[in-house]
Amino acid sequence: MPELPEVETVMRGLRQRLEGRTIVRAVAHRPDLRWPLPADLEKRLSGARVLGFRRRGKYMLMRLSGGASVLLHLGMSGRMLLGPARPNAPTPHEHLVLETDDGWRVGFVDPRRFGSVDLVPTREEDKHRLLAELGPEPLDDGFTARLLSAALARKRTPIKAALLDQKVVAGLGNIYVCEALFRARLSPHRSAHTIPGSRAERLVPAIQETLREAIDAGGSSLRDYVQPDGELGYFQHAWKVYGREGEACERCPDRPACAGIRRATQSARSTFYCPRTQR
Ligand SMILES: [Zn+2]
Repeated sequence: MPELPEVETVMRGLRQRLEGRTIVRAVAHRPDLRWPLPADLEKRLSGARVLGFRRRGKYMLMRLSGGASVLLHLGMSGRMLLGPARPNAPTPHEHLVLETDDGWRVGFVDPRRFGSVDLVPTREEDKHRLLAELGPEPLDDGFTARLLSAALARKRTPIKAALLDQKVVAGLGNIYVCEALFRARLSPHRSAHTIPGSRAERLVPAIQETLREAIDAGGSSLRDYVQPDGELGYFQHAWKVYGREGEACERCPDRPACAGIRRATQSARSTFYCPRTQR
């Protein structure tokens, strides 16, 4: 499931290919994904010029001439495919296709259809119902230990669950929360209300470094953010704890006393952590 760094990488790829271009053709192959598509989506996209992009949490916004923004969410399985325009060759599960004036084609593929596409006035992006309640952007200067402490002060849920709450901080998912908690040496089971103060001072930079490293990895491992098969974004990334149950973590490589990275289930999802160094 794409999280902030994957969405950022996909968005950079879209920006590189689409910014400044005009959409000459837009085709929606079904009326809905997770929610209904705007009835006039094809009409509003066709002929519009792409002015720029913005990311908010796990959402992408593509700003168009005419004052509208397209709000895109990749859901669980959404992917963006980029390639030269070609006639009548639909890709399975490709629900939306855009063709540009310079002969490129972007397809939104989403087999499980948890993704979403909507239109919102650019001046009112943040009032859209899916964006209005999002918490702070973790990579913004305004995301400080004080801000995070205030959000966690009265939460009795485990810190793992609290960080997955998009109202506390936007854009984190299961993988990056595990990685950030490892980096901050904080147990995923610790109650969120015990984090404010010095632990939040460790957690904020841990979240930011984890995300920045992943975004950098995406940028450096892909040429123009495109994979050889035309898929935008995503990348192989070496996790420190995620998916590494039983392995020694990098902090305790040759300690026989360390039983290795442990896996637990929290909020119906797998949590990976080092029980020796995360407290
Ligand atoms: Zn360890």
